[in-house]
Amino acid sequence: MTVVTRFPPSPTGSLHIGSARTALFNWLYARHHAGQFILRIEDTDRKRSTKEAVESIFDGLTWLGLDWDGDATFQSQKIERHAAVALDLLDRGMAYKCYCTPEELEAMRAKARAEGKPVFYDRRWRDRNPDDAPQDIPFVVRIKMPLDGETTIQDQVQGDVTIANEQLDDFIILRADGTPTYMLSVVVDDHDGGVNHVIRGDDHLNNAFRQLQLYRAAGWSIPEYAHIPLIHGADGQKLSKRHGATSVQEYRREGFLPEALLNYLLRLGWSHGDDEVISTDQAVSWFDLDTVGRAPARFDLEKLESLNAHYLREGGSQTVIDGVIACLREKHGIIVDTTGRQRIELALPHLAQRAKTLIELSATAVFLIQAPSFPLVERKAQKILVNGGIEVLRNIQDSLVEINAWNPDTLEATLRARAEELELGFGKIAQPLRAALCGSTASPGIFDVLVILDRDESLARLQRAVEQE
Ligand code: GLU
Repeated sequence: MTVVTRFPPSPTGSLHIGSARTALFNWLYARHHAGQFILRIEDTDRKRSTKEAVESIFDGLTWLGLDWDGDATFQSQKIERHAAVALDLLDRGMAYKCYCTPEELEAMRAKARAEGKPVFYDRRWRDRNPDDAPQDIPFVVRIKMPLDGETTIQDQVQGDVTIANEQLDDFIILRADGTPTYMLSVVVDDHDGGVNHVIRGDDHLNNAFRQLQLYRAAGWSIPEYAHIPLIHGADGQKLSKRHGATSVQEYRREGFLPEALLNYLLRLGWSHGDDEVISTDQAVSWFDLDTVGRAPARFDLEKLESLNAHYLREGGSQTVIDGVIACLREKHGIIVDTTGRQRIELALPHLAQRAKTLIELSATAVFLIQAPSFPLVERKAQKILVNGGIEVLRNIQDSLVEINAWNPDTLEATLRARAEELELGFGKIAQPLRAALCGSTASPGIFDVLVILDRDESLARLQRAVEQE
């Protein structure tokens, strides 16, 4: 049997990180078992579904590298099929027409409340003679739930979960306007799509009991269920806007790498021994449902940041460089050419030591592309230049101009020798040089900076610094 999993988001907002984790688990499970992962947009709520949200889902999944098999489908395009299934259940006596008016239903609810009973439809049309049916008035179709016994979900994460069938009401599967309800559409789409593994948030566990009965009524095979605990904030509450960024796009904008976010989401609820850093390839080969935890996972931004810092340092440098270039454009309005790209590539191992996000990293890369203009914006650096720094730079300029073998060893030997001749501590040379080349007091090692910028650029920046009054 080919494993088929699915991700069926409702496009009512941008891709939430909780949904992204659900998508990730489904994707991993499918990839691990060489199966299929399908994407279905559940857009039957026309009022709340938006095109932007659909884009955000496509975009977020693509950015994370969670590719789906075949084309994405849209639930709204299958409404006729869902309605046909409802009518078939009706024909086969597994469902029935209910003609209750809204007033009758309200009275029923009020009575149940007054008697302290669960607010349930009282099944008054379930066994009534169809000849009693009023003419020309709208009806809904309700599924016949078993009246006694129990329903058990054999959940891969939660274990066996059982409820008494008396807790399941004869819910509506087709509305009076002929449109199917969510509960029916999900089951029909999963069945038609060949979905045999349903991995989703445990907020859907209650639906699973109803859906399982629908499968039975339709005579379809029941998928494996795995209901995973939701993500909570540090305070133990369900993750929401209050806790900070909740959408994949927000994390992307804040400078997180997809591999870091994936690794982080993976570890939120799933473990492989004590491993914290897990590549996507490793995750594909290790993932299974038996090590998904049952307790809600707590979102921890610091952990995500430390994973992000790790991937900035160790991850595939081309992706990081692309990210830095995109950030420089978006946040600093800087366009990077081929020379700039080379400089970023050379500087990356040095810059990535300290940065937690692409945004931090790209801020430290600005000087590689944009030469400082004088007087410097950073006051501390400008002070170094004005308080004797320019003088020092004038004194070392010739020695630098004479260097042809522009490499760290020669540069170091030359500058150290010059410092001795001038009877200066080496810092007294490095500081103004850094200010002149980088426009700031913090940068990678000065010899690295000289090499990364290359001879012509370094000498040009030095010249501009000494020319200022
Ligand atoms: N469309 C539902 C949601 O976004 C998912 C339904 C399901 O996974 O069965 O919550």
